[in-house]
Amino acid sequence: MDVEKRIQELREELQQHNYNYYVLDKPQISDYEFDMKLKELQELEEKHPEFEDPNSPTQRVGGAITKNFETVVHDHRMYSLSNSYSKEELEEWETRLRKVVDGKLQYVCELKYDGASISLTYKNGILDRAVTRGDGFQGDDVTNNVRTIRSVPLKLKGSFPEKFDIRGEIVLPYEGFAKMNAERVDIGEEPYANPRNTASGSLKLQDSAEVARRPLECLLYSIVGENTGIESQFEGLEKAREWGFKVPQESELKNSIEEVLDYINYWDNHRHDLPYETDGVVVKVNSFYQQEELGHTAKSPRWAMAYKFKAEQESTKLEKITYQVGRTGAITPVANLQPVQLAGTIVKRASLHNADQIEKLDVREGDTVFVEKGGEIIPKIVGVDFTRRDPDSEPTKYATHCPECDTELVRNEGEAQHYCPNTNGCPPQIIGRIQHYISRKAMDIEGLGGETVALLVNAGLIENYADLYTLKKEDILPLERMAEKSADNLISGIEKSKEIPFERVLFALGIRYVGETVAKKLAKHFKNIDALAAASEEELVNVDEIGARIAWSVADFFNAESNREIVQRLKDYGVQLEISAEKLANQTDVLGGNSFVISGVFEKVSRNDLKKMIEDNGGKVSSSISSKTNYLVAGANMGPSKLAKAEKLGTNIISEDDFLKMLN
Ligand code: AMP
Ligand code: ZN
Repeated sequence: MDVEKRIQELREELQQHNYNYYVLDKPQISDYEFDMKLKELQELEEKHPEFEDPNSPTQRVGGAITKNFETVVHDHRMYSLSNSYSKEELEEWETRLRKVVDGKLQYVCELKYDGASISLTYKNGILDRAVTRGDGFQGDDVTNNVRTIRSVPLKLKGSFPEKFDIRGEIVLPYEGFAKMNAERVDIGEEPYANPRNTASGSLKLQDSAEVARRPLECLLYSIVGENTGIESQFEGLEKAREWGFKVPQESELKNSIEEVLDYINYWDNHRHDLPYETDGVVVKVNSFYQQEELGHTAKSPRWAMAYKFKAEQESTKLEKITYQVGRTGAITPVANLQPVQLAGTIVKRASLHNADQIEKLDVREGDTVFVEKGGEIIPKIVGVDFTRRDPDSEPTKYATHCPECDTELVRNEGEAQHYCPNTNGCPPQIIGRIQHYISRKAMDIEGLGGETVALLVNAGLIENYADLYTLKKEDILPLERMAEKSADNLISGIEKSKEIPFERVLFALGIRYVGETVAKKLAKHFKNIDALAAASEEELVNVDEIGARIAWSVADFFNAESNREIVQRLKDYGVQLEISAEKLANQTDVLGGNSFVISGVFEKVSRNDLKKMIEDNGGKVSSSISSKTNYLVAGANMGPSKLAKAEKLGTNIISEDDFLKMLN
């Protein structure tokens, strides 16, 4: 079969499935089938770089790095919205509209999505660029990052204007936000505060591959441009939907302010049923002709009005402040409340984050506090009702000792959180650390779950993860709910974990700030645990992408005699504490940090292997040529534009054979 035709076919199919999944929320094939098709396309594209296309569905995984976001002037200014908070204000607005507009007024009601605004430019149906709102006149070009958001079409469907801008909001739905936070907490990082800031922060990440991993969505609400043929806001929404954009179905056309108010009331009560955050309703005059008649003030259109919901807030009594100890020893203060109904659920506890927060709010036990439910899953305390404070109350004294083990707490300079330093003697830390060690992404020990870990610790059978390897069947059989078979499974699961590769063991150790990615980098650089343990903070910081905080944490971990002892025991039991000989044999540093771009088809090795060889030998691979590229490895059928760019920049252009010679 004709390869080009197959590539085209796969791209179109995948584009459609992407659309079904991310825009319509109605997948028609299984994830597995999707992955297989994507893989086939990736392989074909790899073998045939002459058919490269930046809009191919394979490009959604990102990879482009943006060091500096270029400032771009918007073709059409991005205005703010006027705000209103009451029925009366909306009615006054209507009176002002009537003074300018004759005839029938219709309104479009839309939800006000709470995220980061974005302006997308399409030329001939292809995404040309994506720019943040900035100050409304000019914003930052974040195209590389926005391309990875699956609900942003790279190519449009149907017939569309030659050139137009479309505006929308990039949001992080609750579910994805919660998942991201769970992963952060897992590595001892502080969770992100709310979806909105996380969404806008994501747009400014340098590595688009990181953006691709975040479950962002783009919701569109307005088309701007000359000669679009569109005559009203509602028509624009429908057209945008036809072209493949995600336009929420909640938007509705209304004939009067009364109808608008019904819509607002409905969503004020139902906003928590939505998958993402909304902080109000935007009401827009539907007809573009009327919009033009009304025009703009200095800051906002006269034809639109945002109605802001009141934050859902309740007041209740704070009965007691207690402290929780996490796996890494981090202490979180918790407000225990008199139960109160808030946004459809009963709230009994709220997070107080840290000592600074308590001080800032001046919250005290016995106070009447205001509790609010924002984007966070856990409600927060936003203030104190000082009128109802007991005159005898005293400022909160933050815990000085661990609630679990009574060790004096420490707080490192520059950090918000207090820690219990009794790493090896504090029960929730002991249990939490072993639970992390056995978890799926770490040692993935089959037959052992979190609850069993707690049982084992409480029964005095283990105190740390090294002790797991000394467990005997007869020790665990007497435990609650432990049968012959489950005991066997547990023991064999632990035995099998000795095959888990070094990088995952390193992650499993539970060193603060050492997540999966950092563990991989450290394993690759140091190759074995002894070299890592011997590294000074300075040496650690010199490793690519390892910051001061991680360096400090790693050095601190190995400074502790107890940790070194446990690591030594793991080694004695046969856990993998170095990169396997096979992997090591293929790794050198001969490419000395040089940066490579690969292009074209190769005879002796596949593109993937070539990439791996570069990385294993101390080189870096990037996808596009820049002044920082040291070598272009050129294969057959290389794209002419890459070649021209390399020649212009004076990049060394080498063949496959030249490259292989460099390695020997
Ligand atoms: P403000 O920042 O309060 O002036 O509100 C204006 C912002 O609301 C715009 O820049 C958009 O980012 C955002 N917004 C969210 N949803 C909508 C919507 N449906 N229509 C217009 N703007 C919206
Ligand atoms: Zn403790």
